Amino acid sequence: MTVRAKKHLGQHFLKDENIAQKIADSLSEVGYDHVLEIGPGMGVLTKYLLKKKPHVTVMEIDTESIAYLQETFPIENLQLDTSEKKFRIINGDFLRQNLTEIFQNKPIAIIGNYPYNISSQIVFKAIENRDMIPEFSGMFQKEVAQRITEKEGSKTYGILSVLTQAFYHAEYLFTVPPTVFNPPPKVDSGVLRLTRKENYSLPVDEKLFFRVVKTAFNQRRKMLRSSLKSFNLSLTLKEDPIFASRPEQLSVQDFITLTSKIANDGTRDH
Ligand code: SAH
Repeated sequence: MTVRAKKHLGQHFLKDENIAQKIADSLSEVGYDHVLEIGPGMGVLTKYLLKKKPHVTVMEIDTESIAYLQETFPIENLQLDTSEKKFRIINGDFLRQNLTEIFQNKPIAIIGNYPYNISSQIVFKAIENRDMIPEFSGMFQKEVAQRITEKEGSKTYGILSVLTQAFYHAEYLFTVPPTVFNPPPKVDSGVLRLTRKENYSLPVDEKLFFRVVKTAFNQRRKMLRSSLKSFNLSLTLKEDPIFASRPEQLSVQDFITLTSKIANDGTRDH
């Protein structure tokens, strides 16, 4: 039995066992007992996760993969005791799941060889649920992995970098070539690890912060003075040198400072 790769689900099955092991080993296993794998496919990563200590939940949208997993990983054998299963298979779309309900607010790590077509949305959902996610790792299209981990000054630095790094330390771990997948994707892949910062709440209004970052990068070539026009900044504030910069020049800390300046701008319409 095998699963037919479906393009619309972003299915590229990893066939290199050493890389699967290396991705599983990207988890530090510190600060949680539960691991959630997104898009297990035929379970190449899952079997290495199960060798580790944590409880493993896999979430997969493809019913054919689900049937494969149920046959390959008999759940009953993996049950630790009656109250808590060691291994759970959930058939569903990760983007539509209520993580708080499923994990009853217990801390979890998220891992996966992610479907590349929804990889940014997966990261945004993890950021939204950061209260329960101390660690997040896995494989992305290389360019996306770089965008998430890049620092200011780089061409690929953008919304994803700032919003992720506001709450997580981001490390680019290693690059994976197309040849180790079936079918091979057109691009290189990159594995990263995000470790939640000790202090992961912002000293400014988070909604305003998100809005400032997104608005600034929507016109990434323009100076902030012009791209942030819709915030109705006062003339005095527009004179502040920070508004003569472009978004890719600002660090996460600079964006926090910028948000606080905008929040405290006396004459602006709120
Ligand atoms: N982890 C496997 C498969 C990677 S391919 C491996 O490394 O070989 C990506 C997987 O994500 C596929 O199995 C695909 O069916 C699944 N997937 C795609 N969209 C999903 C979604 N919204 N929620 C959960 N799984 C999804």
